[in-house]
Amino acid sequence: MLAELTPEIVIQMQRAATLLQAAPRICVLTGAGVSAESGIPTFRDKQTGLWEQYRAEDLASPAAFARDPKLVWSWYQWRRQLVHDKMPNPAHQALAEWQKNAESSKRQLTLITQNVDDLHEQAGSTVTHLHGYLWRNRCSQCDASYNYESTNHESTHLNSSKDAIEFDDELIACPHCEGYIRPDIVWFGESLPASAWQTAEQAAADCDVFISVGTSSLVYPATGLAQLAKQNGATIIEINPNPTLNTVVDIILAAKAGVVMPLLLEQIKLL
Ligand code: NAD
Ligand code: ZN
Repeated sequence: MLAELTPEIVIQMQRAATLLQAAPRICVLTGAGVSAESGIPTFRDKQTGLWEQYRAEDLASPAAFARDPKLVWSWYQWRRQLVHDKMPNPAHQALAEWQKNAESSKRQLTLITQNVDDLHEQAGSTVTHLHGYLWRNRCSQCDASYNYESTNHESTHLNSSKDAIEFDDELIACPHCEGYIRPDIVWFGESLPASAWQTAEQAAADCDVFISVGTSSLVYPATGLAQLAKQNGATIIEINPNPTLNTVVDIILAAKAGVVMPLLLEQIKLL
């Protein structure tokens, strides 16, 4: 796989591995790019099929849902169908293995994601979700969690599993207040869940090395995490085949996450 990388990236990767091997606290922030090689389109990719005419930014907002709830719900049901059989790729797997190794050597590797898929969990990672979960639903009016199982089978168990999701695009009314059910995702213009944000801020402020993987760094406040880490003395590494304009970055690994992450882990293990 090394052959896929330019000599410059190999040199930068060795630099990164040396730093990471010696770092007691690492914070990793992932974005849509980490799931791209699993076949999940990023937000910047042009949408396909029925949704070609829409931009994701025009569907993923509270205003869009208020204007046309059926349209937004149908789009998410379509996205769920697109994502439900996708599997973790070598980047998710390397991160999970690295996290386990770190734990057993009493180091800290905090994984934060902007993704709403569950591929990090499927790979075996412990991860903090800044933008919510594709497989969970809640009421747009009273905020109550909603799952198909609890309404159909009178169970109180909170089911966040995709196995119980039906991809029907009919709107669902909340059993408590008749409001429409929506995905439990943080939309453009909404605030991040407080406890997830606190975990992310603390991990970024306390880390020795901060790694940003597959994120366009356009969406605040997540972008501010790299800046926070930098202000507190951390080295910043970016993994992205299309490097961003983020000026705080010290080491750029300009290649696909699914290629770089496993190699980086191998290098760290060799040191
Ligand atoms: P983004 O779509 O804005 O940017 C994706 C970035 O990944 C780009 O910079 C691109 O160059 C890079 N990239 C593409 N392929 C890559 C690869 N193989 N390896 C490494 N990098 C690669 O995504 P974002 O920065 O995460 O922010 C946009 C928002 O989109 C997020 O809030 C997120 O919630 C949402 N989103 C999530 C998913 C998901 O859950 N999988 C998918 C699409 C969008
Ligand atoms: Zn309700």
